Amino acid sequence: MSRGTIVMKFGGTSVADAERLRRAAQRIVARREAGYDVVAVLSARGKETDRLIADAHEISQAPDPREMDMLLSTGERVSCALCAMAINDLGQRAISLTGSQAGIVTDASHTKARILDVRADRIFDALGDGHIVLVAGFQGVSTAKDVTTLGRGGSDTTAVALAAAVHAETCEIYTDVHGVFSADPRIVPDARKLDVVSFEEMLEMSASGAGVLQLRSVEYARNHGVRIHCRSSFDDTDGTYVVSEQETMEHPLITAVTHSTGEARVMLAGVPDTPGVAGRIATALAEANVNVDMIIQNEPVSEGARADMSFTVPRDDLHAALRALEAVKADLGVERIATDEMMGKVSVVGAGMKSHPGVAAKVFSTLGDHGINIEMISTSPIKISCVVPGDRVPDAVRALHAAFELSGDDTIRREQPFGEFAS
Ligand code: ADP
Ligand code: ASP
Ligand code: MG
Repeated sequence: MSRGTIVMKFGGTSVADAERLRRAAQRIVARREAGYDVVAVLSARGKETDRLIADAHEISQAPDPREMDMLLSTGERVSCALCAMAINDLGQRAISLTGSQAGIVTDASHTKARILDVRADRIFDALGDGHIVLVAGFQGVSTAKDVTTLGRGGSDTTAVALAAAVHAETCEIYTDVHGVFSADPRIVPDARKLDVVSFEEMLEMSASGAGVLQLRSVEYARNHGVRIHCRSSFDDTDGTYVVSEQETMEHPLITAVTHSTGEARVMLAGVPDTPGVAGRIATALAEANVNVDMIIQNEPVSEGARADMSFTVPRDDLHAALRALEAVKADLGVERIATDEMMGKVSVVGAGMKSHPGVAAKVFSTLGDHGINIEMISTSPIKISCVVPGDRVPDAVRALHAAFELSGDDTIRREQPFGEFAS
């Protein structure tokens, strides 16, 4: 009699070499032997996805997105096949499946596809036969029957989508840190591990750069009521539970400081001050599948003058954004397009700020006291984000983490050999 189903996801560092892969296999087997049906999702090993991307760029300046997905999806297949071998050697039966074989159906936007449906009958059959099911993360098959990938960090979303489909009691995300921290432990070594974080806060954290959980995985978990337990693959300690607002007990003013160094700014000078122009710019970018983040438009001071518009995009999308804008520039009458590739963003997130004025003032004055120039600002009810020069991001994170007193005595520090802290 099964005790229920568990989804376990192991990230790239957690399967990087033979010893770690075997350790992941042992954890999976231990769960199975404790009476659970287990679906495990694996990422590509170590830096394999980065390597495959570099290979593509070595061959082609603008790799075809469909072929890019054929290439990138291989990394996760390797991990799953190897892990299945390790599990079989441990005396359990495992079967590895590609995303497509696992029934993960996506839209056709190559390299950042969205999951539309999970047709899990093959997984249910394999579980019914007593198998451990290993699913290659980060990939699916499009409605046009092509292999797709789900964007960087997409194995988290595979795991959550499968957890929803098989009604798993928990989706465990095993990674190289002990959970979700009050800041990236690579930048703030005494950041505090959060025991519980709400979907609402985690969404803002992931959206503003906390790559420990892919944004879409958190959206999917919230929409389908999946309970995430983000924890270390190197020991057995409890990690961070991402749960609904009702289940979170405390509401600290600020929960975390997040950051991103992968931002680029696009500045449009001399934008005609006529209705509809902003809409056409935004549409051109949306059609190029570029996610625009912060937008600032300066109204011209004098009648009939032209406006300036700036916005940020992920640096990886800058070329696509520029192509889309160049195509409509003349038609719209925009005078000049300039870019700044080395921008960063620092954000403070906390449900408690809804009811406490003064957080923005403290953020701005803290950054000012450290001589960090704020280039752009955006806010939501539970987040304040500032665009700052890329090279000042670590200083900005540490300054805000200290100003809001987020370090804790119960800190579990990030263990060494898995990467150096940035200084
Ligand atoms: P995986 O390969 O397991 O998916 P990722 O590299 O995608 O791992 O995510 C884990 C990394 O996320 C950590 O090593 C850490 O540096 C980074 N990170 C960024 N922000 C945070 C945060 N607030 N809490 C924990 N980790 C964070
Ligand atoms: N291997 C993919 C990446 O590096 C997906 C993942 O690890 O979640 O982005
Ligand atoms: Mg990840």
